[in-house]
Order: sequence, then C-alpha cells, then structure tokens
Amino acid sequence: MAQIRIENVRKEFGAFTAVESSSFTIEDGEFFMLLGPSGCGKTTTLRMMAGLELPTSGEIYIDGEEVGQKPASQRDIAFVFQMFALYPHMNVGKNISYPLISQGMSRAEARKKVVEVARILGIENILNRPVGGLSGGDRQRVALGRAIVREPKAFFMDEPLGALDAEFREHMSEELRALHDRMGSTTVYVTHDQLEAMQMGDKIVVMDQGVVEQFGVPQQIYDWPATKFVAQFIGSPPMNFLEFHGMVGNGMDKVTLDGTELEVPKLLEGTQGELTFGIRPEHIRLDSTAPYKGRIVATEYLGTTQIVSLDTPNGPVKARIESHERARVGELTGLKFDARTVTLFDAASGRALL
Ligand code: ATP
Repeated sequence: MAQIRIENVRKEFGAFTAVESSSFTIEDGEFFMLLGPSGCGKTTTLRMMAGLELPTSGEIYIDGEEVGQKPASQRDIAFVFQMFALYPHMNVGKNISYPLISQGMSRAEARKKVVEVARILGIENILNRPVGGLSGGDRQRVALGRAIVREPKAFFMDEPLGALDAEFREHMSEELRALHDRMGSTTVYVTHDQLEAMQMGDKIVVMDQGVVEQFGVPQQIYDWPATKFVAQFIGSPPMNFLEFHGMVGNGMDKVTLDGTELEVPKLLEGTQGELTFGIRPEHIRLDSTAPYKGRIVATEYLGTTQIVSLDTPNGPVKARIESHERARVGELTGLKFDARTVTLFDAASGRALL
C-alpha cells in the first residue's frame, strides 16, 4: 500500500514540454484515474511515477520517500501494460510465479502464493494449462496475477482494457475494480475514456496539453468542472456552451441571456464581459411556455431518454429528455434551464467563475 505524491513534476522531451509543472496526491488504497485525450501527457505522468521515465524537474514521493530519480526496479511497484506479454512456452502457473522465482523465492513458497492469487482471480482450475490457447479474459487475468503476486506497493496500468471489445471491456473493468477493492492496493490507471474513469475511479485527474485541468472525485468533476475543457470532455453528450456578453454582480443573482432573465445563484460579484453559460443536456426542460426559444432540428432515441438537438439564438444546444416526452423536428419550443445546475465560465480563459 502506498501514498504517491507528485510535486511540481515537469517533463520535457527536447524543446517540447509533455507535462507542465503538476502536483497532486494519490492516497493510500485509492483507485486513481489519469484521464485526458491522446497526447495530453497522461502516459508520461504515469511512467514518471513508475520510474520508467525521469522527470525533468520536480519530486515524486512514494510513502514519503523521494523516488523521482530512482529506476522502476527500486520503487516496489508493478506495471500492467495494454499488451500483455505472457511467456508462451510456460503454463499459467509458471507465468504467474515467474517474478517470485526470479527474485529467488523457493518453488514451494512460490507455489503457495500462486494458488492464493489464482483463487482471487478465479483461475485456479487453469494453472496447468499452456497460455497459448487461453481466451482474452483469461490471458488478462494471468497477466494481472503476475502483477499482483509480488504484492507491490502500487499498481500502474496504462489503458489495460484498450484492446478489448466493448462488452468484455465492461466486464473486465468491473472485475478489476472488485479486485482492487479486495486487495486495497493503490492503483493508478491511465485512460482516455471518460466513462471508464467515472465508473472506476475514486479520484480523477483530467489533463489537457500537458496541464492538469482538474483533480477530484468523479461527481465533483462532473458537477463542478473547473474549466470549459473539463466540462466538454466529461459527459455525453457534453455540456452545452452558450456564449453571451454579460454583467453579473452588485448583489444580482440573475444573468440575461438573449433578453431572457435567468436566475443563477452564488454568482461572483462584479464579473462582466464575455461569459459562457454552461448547462448539461439533462438539466434542460422543453416547455413551449418558456420565453427562451429554440427550434428542434433532430432527435435521437436512446431507450429511456432521447437527445433533442435545437438551434437557439446562442447556437446549437442538446437536451436530454425522457423518451415519452413530445419533441418534433421543425417545432419551435421553449427551453427551461435549471439555474442551480448552471456553470458560468469566463469566455476568454475558459475558467469556471463559481
Ligand atoms: P496517448 O493516449 O496517445 O498515449 P498520452 O496522453 O498518454 O497520449 P503521452 O504519451 O504522455 O500522452 O505523450 C504526451 C506528449 O509527449 C505527446 O505529444 C508525445 O508525442 C510526446 N512524447 C511522449 N514520449 C516522448 C518521447 N520519448 N520523445 C518525444 N516526445 C514524446
């Protein structure tokens, strides 16, 4: 078990900065997600924590010890890669025991540990099988077995389920999370899939272009995005942005959007200029009596809900409403915004004002 803390960690490759100065703490036993689009620096951040890449500057602490310049072999961690390289000429048991035997553990002791681990993973009945003929899921379990058998302080996983098809991926992600909950070991997990991050993570760091945009529990990141980037990256369909020129403050608790006054509580005093009004699709109601109008341009049926696309004076908007609610393409309707769920951003910096 381990607490991992990174402080002002930065990584340059030549003239290119892959990770800007970043700081956050992963608590002991957490399932921690590094989330962001391709090239945002999440893998580089993970590799620095694991010791596979050395930071250009900054410190990395594992359980209070500064390990930033130490190689992976001295960090007592296990790395699970996307492409699991099992030893094809060994059976399942030997694949799992390999790290123990190569550390000098006796065969009898290693055997005991392998059986324990196989039981946790539900693969005790295939220990004597060659790995060649195994299903994808079992190969994944064997690879995990090999990672957990050493009982490392922490696990590092880089898109471990990336190569799997959707259904199996969902099943394995549940298994991974359950395994983590049974073992309680600190796990750092890289993904570009916001849904996977929300479902599996205790905490999430969202990165973009080498910068940590936000750090928090999934609900915090969904409900209180710190930036427009986070608001758009998390949630499907993403948060709607309506741009407007506004003035907020002097005790006011209203903003005016295209002539329609909207109550927005807890606004910052004296904020003015180009503002972006952010609202999630599920916080919009369609109501023909509402003064803020939009024309329905498309509907998408999703079973219990439907996504309605509208053209409004401030641009395109998507609303998620229940399937049985009426929404006809071509119709002019009114939009009601649930004011308590609105996020207001400074349009220029993209930062949330609340
Ligand atoms: P992906 O999901 O595509 O792997 P990522 O968010 O994990 O993306 P990184 O792999 O951390 O991103 O890469 C961040 C940036 O650093 C990318 O622009 C990448 O091209 C660059 N980069 C990574 N490793 C190196 C390297 N060894 N030399 C030069 N540039 C690198």
